[in-house]
Amino acid sequence: MKRYLLFTVDMEEMDRLSSLRISKRGWERIETLLEEFGIHSTLFTTGVFAENYPVTVREAWEKGHEIASHGMNHSEHIEEMNVNEVLKVLHKAKATVEKSGCDSPIGFRAPRLMPPSPSVLLQAGFLYDSSLHPTWVPGRYNNLKSRTDVHVIYDRKMGECGNGLIEVPISVSPCLRLPVSWIWFRNYPDFILQSLLKKVIENTGFLHIYFHPWEFVELKGYSSLPYLYRRRTGPKLIERLRAILEYLVRREGVKAVTITEYLRIRGLLLEG
Ligand SMILES: [Zn+2]
Repeated sequence: MKRYLLFTVDMEEMDRLSSLRISKRGWERIETLLEEFGIHSTLFTTGVFAENYPVTVREAWEKGHEIASHGMNHSEHIEEMNVNEVLKVLHKAKATVEKSGCDSPIGFRAPRLMPPSPSVLLQAGFLYDSSLHPTWVPGRYNNLKSRTDVHVIYDRKMGECGNGLIEVPISVSPCLRLPVSWIWFRNYPDFILQSLLKKVIENTGFLHIYFHPWEFVELKGYSSLPYLYRRRTGPKLIERLRAILEYLVRREGVKAVTITEYLRIRGLLLEG
């Protein structure tokens, strides 16, 4: 069975530090690393990032990365808005990507992984959602009963005959559903991380992980941030990720693809 890596990045302003520039710097570091391994990632960009750095977004797209949407402002709580308000935000966010010169995004990931209803996302023109982290994060969400596989959601409002929204959940470990992305990726001991990632791929055939660009900048000096936010950022994260990519992509032959490419391989999206 062929195995896949879906490497994704939330291209967003670092709201705890009210900084955009730190994200741009971080992306430049990730990009260099991904290039080393020939990896095309999926970037979920906020409208704010795309508006401020249209050339960065456009260049990433031209190099083969997929550009998807992460809403307009990262601090916005779209899950609490009414349908008209959400649609306005989503259209505005999509327009920033189009204005930067990229194709209109078909994928969406909600800020803080708290999405509006599937029917609203379909109405806004998205074909897939990637906001489901099927785990429990205290104070954020409890998705322990949600599905962990790629599946199609038929919202009650759409009815079974309409087109569904494809849900592409973020990977968690089998059984215990331990998260394996950003803060967790950085803070597990090496041997635990390696074994969890291996188990995810053996179990589902794909590993879908996400990071934030600002994690790739050394945050040790920012004492206002919680300890686990700052720990093993910058060069330490780059070193850790390089070792993992070396193992997965070079040794194990796991193929890195964008989310759209993966959905086409699975026959869930048509070519073109
Ligand atoms: Zn985010």
